[in-house]
Amino acid sequence: MKRKLYPFILFSLLSLGCAAQHSLRKPTANRFGAPGVENSTGYSGTGANIDVVYYRCDWTIDPSDATKNISGTVTTYFKTTAANVAAITLDLRKSAFNNAALVPKYHGVTCSNSFPVAGNVNILTLNLPAIIVTAGTLDSISITYSGTPPAVSGQAEGYQRGESPAGSGNWYIYTLSETYEDKDWWPCKADMQDKADSVDINVTVPNAYWVATNGKLVDSAINGAYRTFRYQHRYPIATYLIGLGIAKYNRHHRGTVNIAGTNVPVMYYTYPNMTGATLTNALSKMDVSKTELAVFSDKFGPYPFASEKHGYYQHGWGGGIEHQTFSGMSSGSMQSWSIIAHELGHQWFGDKVTFSTWNHLWLAEGFAKYAEVLAAELVPATGANPVTHLGSIKATARATNTTPVLLSAASIASSNTMWTAANDNAVYQRGAMIVSMLRTMMGIPDFSGPQGLPQ
Ligand SMILES: [Zn+2]
Repeated sequence: MKRKLYPFILFSLLSLGCAAQHSLRKPTANRFGAPGVENSTGYSGTGANIDVVYYRCDWTIDPSDATKNISGTVTTYFKTTAANVAAITLDLRKSAFNNAALVPKYHGVTCSNSFPVAGNVNILTLNLPAIIVTAGTLDSISITYSGTPPAVSGQAEGYQRGESPAGSGNWYIYTLSETYEDKDWWPCKADMQDKADSVDINVTVPNAYWVATNGKLVDSAINGAYRTFRYQHRYPIATYLIGLGIAKYNRHHRGTVNIAGTNVPVMYYTYPNMTGATLTNALSKMDVSKTELAVFSDKFGPYPFASEKHGYYQHGWGGGIEHQTFSGMSSGSMQSWSIIAHELGHQWFGDKVTFSTWNHLWLAEGFAKYAEVLAAELVPATGANPVTHLGSIKATARATNTTPVLLSAASIASSNTMWTAANDNAVYQRGAMIVSMLRTMMGIPDFSGPQGLPQ
């Protein structure tokens, strides 16, 4: 993620603190979640007795609806990790969705459900009508729900609606789940150590709108006044990296980039009011990412999501967010060489390889920040000077000498405690300087592989 809220623009290993690309669970106690919850490493401790395999999300959304409603059904496929599972917990915003529309079903039978009355109230408990006896059982549960996600609260965004420009009728919806706002709009197990192995995202919207989200668009059938977009994402994914953009998008298909024998489609979606010189500038800046896609693949390993796509879609928040395969970007971000490179760098660091708890956010942001330096160094079309850029990062890092890179439990308590200027400088700038230090210590050949990097 990269925000433009601070003087130095804000901004996502290798073993410690990382969830690998494949779904991974560790049987350690929950460090930060609700008391008494065990066997999950997620922040809230939900889903302690399951390993999520797959989410199928069926949503109906109308951006012109002033109530900002989201409704639909999320079906979670899982494997039990304990014997005799009688109840399952997931993260979901109680204030938005604890209403009559909330109907969880297990094998077609409605489950009783509840939320805590105090403490962390945003935990949905689903009582199964039949106990799942055997550990390792593959099963599923569906949750039909409807409600209005909360408004922006400081750094917490979640699911928001806007119009661009005001009075145009060009409404949009966007989501920004990082850090804990995935539960603000859909029921999920928000635990980076238990990625879903794949996800289907089906969104029904009025005909005038188009849906931007993760993965490959496989169908967009029109049915009367509505159109259903069906996307498939067939790679492991953390819940905070699932994002939606719904708008009257102009769609720019910019060809493909061949990565290790696979032609990766490149595309950008922009709002109708991005036109003229602004659009021309954004397209030319984003097209530099095609070279970066090849260069980063050379340095980091092949682009992790090559069989689906790479690109950027416009959203209503003032920065960039590395939604897997399709990063959400403001108009300004789409014209910023560094944010374009940063979000692409995240596809490897943060997306393919994800920190296991939010304490280790620097593993994503430090590497993505350093990816900006690499882009400046190796891709002349950025027009950036890598020495100047690294110098700026270094100056901020050196001035940030009281905030640890490893975020404290207090820092990761909420989006508002996490996304502070001091934490940003530590996680992004000092994090990037750790990567720079590793490069110096390892030497160019070990750090960069056979091609080597210029000094
Ligand atoms: Zn970032």
